[in-house]
Amino acid sequence: MTDVDLLVAGAGGGLAGALRAAQQGLDVLVVDTDPNFRRGNNTSMSTAMVPGPGSRFQRAAGITDSPQRFLDDVARKTGGTADVRIASALAHVGAELVEWLADHVGVPVELPTDFAYPGHSVPRVHSLPGRHGAALLRHLADAAEDADRVDLLVPARLVEVRPRPGGTVCAVVANPDGQHEEITARAVLLATNGYGADPGLVGTHLPEIAGATYHGGEHSRGDALRIGAGLGAATGYLDAYQGHAALSAAARTLVTWAAVMHGAVVVDTGGRRFGDETRGYSEFAAELAARPGGRGWMVLDERIDGLCRSFRDYQDVLDAGAVRTADSAAGLARVLGVPAAALEAELDALARVAGGAGGAGVDVHGRSGVVALRAPLRAVEIVPALFHTQGGLLVDEHARVLDTAGAPVPGLYAAGGAAAGISGHGAAGYLAGNGLLAALGLSYLAAGHLARPVPAARPHAPEGAR
Ligand SMILES: Cc1cc2nc3c(=O)[nH]c(=O)nc-3n(C[C@H](O)[C@H](O)[C@H](O)COP(=O)(O)OP(=O)(O)OC[C@H]3O[C@@H](n4cnc5c(N)ncnc54)[C@H](O)[C@@H]3O)c2cc1C
Repeated sequence: MTDVDLLVAGAGGGLAGALRAAQQGLDVLVVDTDPNFRRGNNTSMSTAMVPGPGSRFQRAAGITDSPQRFLDDVARKTGGTADVRIASALAHVGAELVEWLADHVGVPVELPTDFAYPGHSVPRVHSLPGRHGAALLRHLADAAEDADRVDLLVPARLVEVRPRPGGTVCAVVANPDGQHEEITARAVLLATNGYGADPGLVGTHLPEIAGATYHGGEHSRGDALRIGAGLGAATGYLDAYQGHAALSAAARTLVTWAAVMHGAVVVDTGGRRFGDETRGYSEFAAELAARPGGRGWMVLDERIDGLCRSFRDYQDVLDAGAVRTADSAAGLARVLGVPAAALEAELDALARVAGGAGGAGVDVHGRSGVVALRAPLRAVEIVPALFHTQGGLLVDEHARVLDTAGAPVPGLYAAGGAAAGISGHGAAGYLAGNGLLAALGLSYLAAGHLARPVPAARPHAPEGAR
């Protein structure tokens, strides 16, 4: 007998595992070290975008998609370096997951179809009105608080997991006084995110982004790596991360990259563009960090400004007074303090390419679908940021943590930033939504696996029958 069936450490994406397990009749305890987890963890800070390839929401919008198409996009974005087993498991559960969020958790799922995020060949990242993770987490946390079979213990930090006979585990949980409580469980799900808040680990594994602002949950301190190491767990992809090139310097919130997908461009402090922004916001973070001063400006116009107002993050940027306006390129350059000739040349080049033969063309950076920006112009000062790490404990398609020989560690699952994700190495393999897909999706898969009936032991054959 154990105290609970499943102990979930981390009330972010881990809540999906808690709810799914409870739905299947398991008793669950969720512990979180952060008393303000509802507003402080990565899931709550996110834009709430979750890929669901082949979902009913896509079908209703007339979008043809499939797990294989998503896998092809993952392979293209990661240069074929993503863990295929995990990518496939998440590709095949994505649609079920977003539909379950709508039907079981009550999330008002919607599918933005006016643009596709970098690397997605079709609109497939589902979100909810306002496109903010605080609302997503509120739905998950409220549902967990209402669920009979789910208890929440907050603040409480998982510090160790010990093996017990029969493949069960003992979770050692510290309360704020430093006192330890031992809780036995059939399994522990590590959903404690990655190591983005640990500058030492970031310096070791992610030197290219170590100097950038960290904009993620402050309790992402690598606990899963330490706890997993105590049980012989293997790690992988520790150099993988999600960066973002567009944190508003003034508002300290995200300027949505949807602005870029609608035509905005990024210039450095010299007023110059330095790449194809539509390749992806994650890899663009290190590229911006390497520019003089390590900061720049996102330049847009009134049309794009209007298209971005459905994002709560962009509204926050507006409310903070961080969006500058001018009636001409020269006027905007004066407001921003960048060389006017450089900015004018960049905007003229955009207009030339956009107006070229056949309409929107390809610019010198290889960006296609370029559009002209028309006065009145807008700009937001941006700094590069590290949002979360994508490497961690190696898991299988059921989210079971693997040891260095590739065998499952009994009673241990991992999800989200605690586990190695599907973004390959570095920053460039990150596709929008693959953080939450790994957080919610692996948790969901872990719960489903634990709830499966244990196969009955084979009856012992009599001696003579062998
Ligand atoms: C601004 C921003 C926007 C983003 N937008 C998106 C997006 O739209 N789509 C997407 O896919 N990804 C997005 N991401 C990334 C995404 O937020 C993360 O990949 C995802 O939320 C990670 O979920 P998680 O459950 O692993 O971690 P979290 O949501 O951070 O949850 C981990 C929890 O574990 C707790 N914890 C830590 N250690 C312990 C311990 N030892 N014991 C108990 N509790 C512990 C923490 O307090 C925390 O509450 C974004 C990130 C940021 C910062």
